[in-house]
Amino acid sequence: MDDYVVVLNAGSSSLKFSVYRRRDSKSWRLESRGQVEGIGTSPRFSARDGSGERLADNPLDKTAVRDGHTALDAVAQWLRSTYGKARVLGVGHRVVHGGPRFSGPTMITPQVLAELRQLIPLAPLHQPHNLAAIDAVSEQLPGVPQVACFDTSFHRGQPAVAELVPLPAEIRNGGVQRYGFHGLSYEYIASVLPDVAPEIAGGRVIVAHLGSGASLCAMRDRKSLDSTLGFTALDGLCMGTRPGALDPGVVLYLFQNLGLSAKDVETILYKRSGLLGISGTSNDMRDLLGSNQPAARLAVDYFVYRAAKEIGALTAVLAGIDALVFTAGIGENSPEIRSRICDASAWLGIEMDTNANGTKQQRISRAGSRVSAWVIPTNEELIIARHTGTVLGLIETRA
Ligand code: ADP
Repeated sequence: MDDYVVVLNAGSSSLKFSVYRRRDSKSWRLESRGQVEGIGTSPRFSARDGSGERLADNPLDKTAVRDGHTALDAVAQWLRSTYGKARVLGVGHRVVHGGPRFSGPTMITPQVLAELRQLIPLAPLHQPHNLAAIDAVSEQLPGVPQVACFDTSFHRGQPAVAELVPLPAEIRNGGVQRYGFHGLSYEYIASVLPDVAPEIAGGRVIVAHLGSGASLCAMRDRKSLDSTLGFTALDGLCMGTRPGALDPGVVLYLFQNLGLSAKDVETILYKRSGLLGISGTSNDMRDLLGSNQPAARLAVDYFVYRAAKEIGALTAVLAGIDALVFTAGIGENSPEIRSRICDASAWLGIEMDTNANGTKQQRISRAGSRVSAWVIPTNEELIIARHTGTVLGLIETRA
């Protein structure tokens, strides 16, 4: 009988899943991936096999699929009808926040779940959905072990100054520190660098994860030394609906002068700022790049400005830079944004190869460029599948 692990990435309006089959004692093969999107509005189910062929694409009844729990029911139903009685060895979850304690993938127990619930205020947009998926799996697949893989873990072990939030000790002692996020993505990039770009794998690399959430990670020898996201996923770069780094005095002003409630401020910071807030029209980079509206152009200008500024800052952290790597939705798919960020970083010695940038090539800098530039598609799900296998003792620990 075939053995599978299921990987779940539960967000506020989508539930993404991947099914991996154990190939041998060392690796997993992607069998299918898909999602329920539009949860709460117009839910839709889609799935593709490992080579990208469409397996399903259909609307779902919005009275039946109205939240994360019922979305998981829809996924479970499809898995049963597609994989029959195949054995699910475990379910691996993306969990955004692991706090100070969880520095690696962890088997979920009632005690672990209780600790993760305490971190909800640190990731209000993501953590409740991640944990709801764990609850839903416990009901749908009782007895199947579940593993939490954290977006913060890859950054643990950074120098103390990188993790520090310079507030009084009684506040810091309550867990107020810089955690960093997108760690599963950075871990994947770090894992493939020796194969894709061996000449820079041991060097000073800045990885730009530019998706609807966006951050940079400064790596030396494939370890995280610093990143632009901090205590929460609000810091650093301009994002789809989040502002990135903000003078904390602005937040005081919102409370004290505009009289906004904590809930209002949370909504502004997580859902109404960034590209959406600047453009007033869209949080999607494709819309903004296709628009002639001055506000849309300003949003793109700010996105690029902020990215280039933070690349400079992380170059200082690394005392130099050998390579810049682009990944995630914008990083993988937008030659224009890559080109603009590389141009703004030309002073560091990055010379883009404009022909390569428009193609599927992974190296997008000129042969003689002192600092090389790369596009490497990320694969957070594969990292979760590997960790799930390792924690469950199914797969040999990888180097
Ligand atoms: P997340 O996983 O955080 O939802 P993704 O990494 O999937 O985000 O990135 C989603 C974003 O990628 C979209 O909001 C869109 O702005 C951007 N994107 C996708 N394709 C393109 C493209 N061809 N050009 C520019 N931006 C793109």
